[in-house]
Amino acid sequence: MSQFHCTCGFAIDLADEFGDHMHQVFTRDDDMGTDGRIHHELADASPTKLACACDFATPDMTEFDDHLLIVFITPDGIGTDGEKHVPVDPSTPDRWFVQEDFR
Ligand SMILES: [Zn+2]
Ligand SMILES: [Zn+2]
Repeated sequence: MSQFHCTCGFAIDLADEFGDHMHQVFTRDDDMGTDGRIHHELADASPTKLACACDFATPDMTEFDDHLLIVFITPDGIGTDGEKHVPVDPSTPDRWFVQEDFR
């Protein structure tokens, strides 16, 4: 049994790779988040910080990833491929549920 499961059938043991899966299915080509603002990592930010186009900044890569997931994951869990992607295992890190419970 893999540790992390997605409702689309994707399953993996590594939290990082599960996060990558969520990024792939929810990040839109135009970088428009569900809040209507543009979110993408700014390449010219300071070397000690990760900065987003929306002014969010953090030195923590995991926190930055969470920020992108939070703004790109749709309330109904439907990804850009039209499929539903919601973590189905309770052991999935709950940091992704900071803003709302979309199950
Ligand atoms: Zn942002
Ligand atoms: Zn999925």
